[in-house]
Amino acid sequence: MNLFLQQQSVLKSQLLKGRYITYSKIEALLSDFDLAKVGTSTKGLPIKAITIGNGPIKILMWSQMHGNEATSTKGIMDVMYFLKDNAAFLAPFTIQLIPMLNPDGAAAYTRVNANGVDLNRDAEQQSQPETHALFEVYDAFQPDYCFNLHDQRTLFGVNDEPCMLSYLSPAADVDKLITEARKQAMGIIGHMNESLLQHLPNQVGRYDDTYNPNCVGDCFQAKGTPTILFECGQSGQDYDREATRKWFSFSVIEALHCIANKSFKPTVYNSIPEVKKSYVDVLIHNVPYQNTKISVAIQYEEKLISDKIFFEPTLHSKGDLSELNAHKIIDLNKFKGVSFDDLDDRAFIKKLSEMLDLTYYSH
Ligand SMILES: [Zn+2]
Repeated sequence: MNLFLQQQSVLKSQLLKGRYITYSKIEALLSDFDLAKVGTSTKGLPIKAITIGNGPIKILMWSQMHGNEATSTKGIMDVMYFLKDNAAFLAPFTIQLIPMLNPDGAAAYTRVNANGVDLNRDAEQQSQPETHALFEVYDAFQPDYCFNLHDQRTLFGVNDEPCMLSYLSPAADVDKLITEARKQAMGIIGHMNESLLQHLPNQVGRYDDTYNPNCVGDCFQAKGTPTILFECGQSGQDYDREATRKWFSFSVIEALHCIANKSFKPTVYNSIPEVKKSYVDVLIHNVPYQNTKISVAIQYEEKLISDKIFFEPTLHSKGDLSELNAHKIIDLNKFKGVSFDDLDDRAFIKKLSEMLDLTYYSH
């Protein structure tokens, strides 16, 4: 959908930038849409749902059920503004979107909700108010398809490239049988993959499909609703994940195109490589350490400090790290006369980070 790519950069939702997306940041945008309150979070924030379109195919989408995963929230708001302006494309659909299922986690920049519960491990017990809200919307709306929207950590690679986007048609039972719902979800992912390959060769992966009845996607798939897990990932130095956002939202548009035109490609799904935990944030080679030279792998820890996300370098591993890949690779041979002997790990990483200017802030 080149039309979407042409319009994406000027959509009003581009006001949303960075990694720290809270309810107060999306509130003004939500009022541009037909809006309903569908629940209240643990700490009393409203959980809202947008409804757009009045066509026969019903799609339920939700984002930020993990509060610190906001890339898909930015991206799905791009999709909503695009649909608002493109009535013909929207015509086959009625879409309900819960853009922020876990507003408390979003405010605190945590995966879990304010009770410390992972909402994507609460499908069986349904112990949390946010989970109730999602299941009530699901029961009332009776969607034909579900899109479950997330971010993945920086550690995923695919085919020795960083995995920018990954997808899953969740299993509906322990035997991972290809049910009709699963097959349709696979077909949509196959279609998205073919479209993305023209732009992002080797950067699209398939997520692990181990069945977990406590995951919401697995649960809806088991109920017979074709459900797709979308995972926005890390590529290069795009820590604000703006490129990821663009290609994520492009893929959602492609998914809609596929559903409207029934251009399902389930056989393509199996050709998508599985994601691997093969990446770290920074890999530094030739670090002089105790009379030898070693490699050092750094993983960022994301912390909320004064309304910004601070990416704090922490030690992942050191030694011979030839198996690892990284979003940034530095050769320390060009730095003369530095020594890291007699430093504990913490001081070692601090000195390296300061020397190489590795810290990062996102709004
Ligand atoms: Zn998630």
